[in-house]
Order: sequence, then C-alpha cells, then structure tokens
Amino acid sequence: MYPVSPPAVYAHTSVVAQPRYRRRLMRVVDALETRVEPIVFCDDDTPRMVHEEGLLAGRTAMGTLDEIPDPILLFNTFRFDGRRDERMAWLAEQGVTANVHAAAALLGYEPWAWECYNLPDDPVRDDKVCRPCWRLHFQNGCVHKCHYCGCGGLLATMVNVEDWIENLDRLITGHPWQQTYLLEDDADIPGLEPELGCLGHPWQQTYLLEDDADIPGLEPELGCLGPIIEYFGGLHGRYLVIHTKSWNVDWMLDLPHNGNTIVVWSQSADTQSREIEPVCGTTEERIEAARRCQEAGYQIRYKLKPIVPVRGWREEATAMIDMIFERTSPDLISLCVFMWHDVATMKRSLPVELLDPEMLRAAEEARIRPSETMTAPYPEDVRAEIYEHHFREIRRHDPDIPVSLSTENWDMWRRLGPMLGYTATDYVCGCGPNSTPGLRRLQVHPFAVARGGPQGDFDTM
Ligand code: SF4
Ligand code: SF4
Repeated sequence: MYPVSPPAVYAHTSVVAQPRYRRRLMRVVDALETRVEPIVFCDDDTPRMVHEEGLLAGRTAMGTLDEIPDPILLFNTFRFDGRRDERMAWLAEQGVTANVHAAAALLGYEPWAWECYNLPDDPVRDDKVCRPCWRLHFQNGCVHKCHYCGCGGLLATMVNVEDWIENLDRLITGHPWQQTYLLEDDADIPGLEPELGCLGHPWQQTYLLEDDADIPGLEPELGCLGPIIEYFGGLHGRYLVIHTKSWNVDWMLDLPHNGNTIVVWSQSADTQSREIEPVCGTTEERIEAARRCQEAGYQIRYKLKPIVPVRGWREEATAMIDMIFERTSPDLISLCVFMWHDVATMKRSLPVELLDPEMLRAAEEARIRPSETMTAPYPEDVRAEIYEHHFREIRRHDPDIPVSLSTENWDMWRRLGPMLGYTATDYVCGCGPNSTPGLRRLQVHPFAVARGGPQGDFDTM
C-alpha cells in the first residue's frame, strides 16, 4: 500500500468486534510509515470527533493548504439496516455538516448511490452530458493529494466487503434497466437521438468504483478490493470499473478477474502529475501500471480528466499520448478540461505560476462562474482548442479508437461531435454504465432509469 503517516486512526466498534475485520484494520496499521494506535469509537462519538478532534477539518481543496497532511484513517462497516435517512438526520441534528457521501461513510451507509445525471430530477441536466447509473462506494477520501480536490484530510474505508458483495448482488440482479426511457420529458434536450431508444441491453453493465476515493491506496493490506474483483470475475456480462491515478497495482495482477474488471486511469501529463497531483503516480508510473494490468488481461482505458492547461501543455500532452500508445492499447479515451471552479477558486487551489498564461487570461476575462455553467472557468474556445489538440495527437496513433468528452456541456458536443464522430447520446466513455470493454458505440440509449423507480428498496442503504 501507499506509505502513509496518518495523524490519527479511528476504528468503529463493529470493526474491532469481528476478527476478520480487525485483521484488515491491523494489517493496514502495521504497514503505516509511523505506527498509530487505533482509537475505538462508536456512533455517538462521531459528532465529538468532528467538532472537537477535527475529523473533517481537512475537507477543503487541498491546494489551498500550506501543507497537505496525510489523511486521518477511519475504519467502519456498512450497516445494511435500512436506517440511513434516520441516522443521517441524527447526524445533522448534531451539527455535523459534512457532504452527504462523507456523512454516510461516517455512519456506515451508502454502499452505492443512484446518480440521476441528465434525467428530469437532475438540476443541471441541461448543462452537462453524462450517464445516469448506480455508482458504487466503499471508501470516502484519498491518500492522494490532488490540489483541486476536496477528498483529503480523512480516508474512511469500510471493511465488511463480504456483506457489501452480498447486497451488491441483490442490486445488480434486482434492478434491470427499464426498457423505455423518459423520451417525452426529454424532448427539450438538444442533441437527443430518440431513434436510439429501447435498443440493446436493458440493464447496467459496468459499475464504477469510486468517484469519492481512489480505491487501491490501502491495498493489498486492507484486503477488500481483491474480493470485489474476484466477485465480478464470476459474473457474466457485468463489469467492475476501477477509477484510479495509482501506481499500486502489482498486488492485483494475478487475481482471477476473468476480464470483468476495467481499470480506468485518470491520466495527466508530466507537470500536472508531479506538481498538481503529488503522491499519485507520475505520467509514466500510471502508464506503466496500465501496461502491467493490460499484460495481466485487464481491460485498460484512460480518462484525461481534468486536463489543466499548464505552460507547455501542448508538448506535454503530445509526449503523454505518445507514451500511452507506445506502451498500452486502451479501448477508449475520454477528455475533460479542468472545470467546476470559478477562476478565483482555481487560482487559490492551483499553482498559478504553472498555468498557461494566455488561457488563464482568457478565463479571467470570461469570469464564468459554475452557477452559469459547470464547465467554468475556461471559456468554450479554450476548451475546444485543448480537446482538438488532444484529439489530433490521439489520431496520429490510432485512427479508430473512440475519443469522447466527459461531463462536457451540450454546446461543446454540438461543436465537436462531428470531429469526434459521436453524438452526446451514443458515445462510449471511461465509466459509462454501458461502455463495456472494446465497445465502439453505445447500443442502448444512455438516459434510462432502473425499473421500479430510481432506487426502489435500495434507497435506505
Ligand atoms: S486521486 Fe481523485 S480522489 Fe484522490 S485526491 Fe486525486 S482527485 Fe481526489
Ligand atoms: S466517463 Fe462518461 S459516465 Fe463517466 S463521468 Fe464521464 S461522461 Fe459521465
């Protein structure tokens, strides 16, 4: 696992009470750079840990801190008792104002979440293109220290992976996709391709783990990701998607994954990987990790997300793409320019002296705020230039590999769709719920909902 020196380690009573979970905890503790004795806590202690012991004090964009500490580690168990809403309300009454995923992790809830992207209940459905799906959670927080990210300060991990898998199996088999989607309600969405409706697989095929963490960080000592990979290895037509910036993959090379795990590297070029995403693998380390996984039979792919335009970004992007294709054969590449920030917040989080000055000036002049469009702060022309450069460089190596945009807006899809050869509703992408290994174009309309309502009886987990 990563070399970590956490300022504190907390273990829930449900972890220390069970020998198997305790072994997982102690294997991680024994591997720490500096030994830290775990503090045993129960749910009633949580408000005090937040208010008096600074459990969530590090939950801010890490680049705004003078020094980024290693995260506190917290070991917990998923409860699966249907009491999530009640327990979350209790935590809020205690004055704990964590974001919903972090709060759920403190209490042992939310093993997965239905994300309603682009469906009618998505408040920003007109401003971004993504895919609705179930997303899996096992951790909250990260050992990496990406400057733009707020997932530092605390890494909460669950340890009862056997319970998680048993319930996940219910989720997967109990929620086939509905065969119809909300076409009438969606008629106002530009770019919708109604003729694609009702085709293909009426169920979610790939399951992303995680978007609140970088899951390999504590492995293999934690001993939880291996069983998840093996579980998916026994399924037919369902795939696990591990999203990572990690170099830490050697432990998983010999697992019986059976081709059912896709590893997506969130990949960046040299300066960004070293200066803005310290502790993650460098550009070369991530590509090398991908090469080793590919050699071990895993499907690998890349998301170049977020692309931060630093000084010399064109040359660095070209070098990164050269290395990707010299060493690996991804089945697709997704692109996304740095977004979700206003320019002032970006300048507080990132080392301004490293940023491309012309593009920074364009962002400063445009003064786009995320409340206007989630693609802030870089204006459309800047983002398009970045995408076009990356696309050209990828095409120098591979004339056919699918290249898509990730969480871009409809305007950008209108502008670049013809170049990419996709529409907003038929592209395959890094963690799309139907982007199965090697698929070139979606066979199912992406804006579908799970049968029986978005969550059914899984909404209180
Ligand atoms: S790897 Fe992902 S979760 Fe971890 S700090 Fe970086 S952006 Fe955040
Ligand atoms: S890769 Fe696809 S599904 Fe994943 S975040 Fe991007 S657009 Fe959404």
